[in-house]
Amino acid sequence: MNIILLGPPGAGKGTQARHLVETRNMVQLSTGDMLREAKDSGTEMGNMVADVMARGDLVTDEIVIGLIREKLEDTTEHGGFIFDGFPRTLAQATALDELLKATGKTLDHVIELRVNDDALVKRIAGRSTCGNCGEVYHDVTKPQPADGKCSKCGASDFKRRADDNEESLRNRLMEYYKKTSPLLGYYYAHDLLKRVDGLADINVVQASIEAILDA
Ligand code: AMP
Repeated sequence: MNIILLGPPGAGKGTQARHLVETRNMVQLSTGDMLREAKDSGTEMGNMVADVMARGDLVTDEIVIGLIREKLEDTTEHGGFIFDGFPRTLAQATALDELLKATGKTLDHVIELRVNDDALVKRIAGRSTCGNCGEVYHDVTKPQPADGKCSKCGASDFKRRADDNEESLRNRLMEYYKKTSPLLGYYYAHDLLKRVDGLADINVVQASIEAILDA
């Protein structure tokens, strides 16, 4: 089963994707994570996208489609792909349709995590993650453990994203509404769109997503 998690920055796509990786052996394809990896390891492409990402603009369709194409060629057995942060434009959505078709795969659900902008700003402003396992913390709602060790894996290297600041976030939201939200209409027309309240308790969001996948 292949699904897309759709929603603005901070909607909880990454958190929910990680849960599905653990419980259903699915594979998370986060173009944001792939781009950050390229940036951190200083590849030519990584250096090219660093400024674009810091501003909160979208990187070119060509780059992200190339990243996804590579991953779809992997033939290891698993529970399906979770597209997280991809597609973000109509051109990416149609490219994904073609890539899936070419590899004999289908898209089963597009799940929109609905949230309001004020909640997003609050969520993102205090966000940090474990550099080892990706567990997400928040200064107010889920502070890093007092002993400085990740509650999930015990590592003590926490990261804050360079683009998790208010200016970049406003730009990321603008990009979302301008370029990504038209995908809601696209997938509605393809009868794939499902909606979940992204502001509900994390376990409730998980359960709602699981109910969609099990229906
Ligand atoms: P994310 O981790 O999904 O919030 O992505 C972080 C940043 O990476 C975005 O603000 C964009 O600059 C870039 N990015 C990630 N995915 C895409 C995509 N599908 N298309 C264009 N840019 C992307």
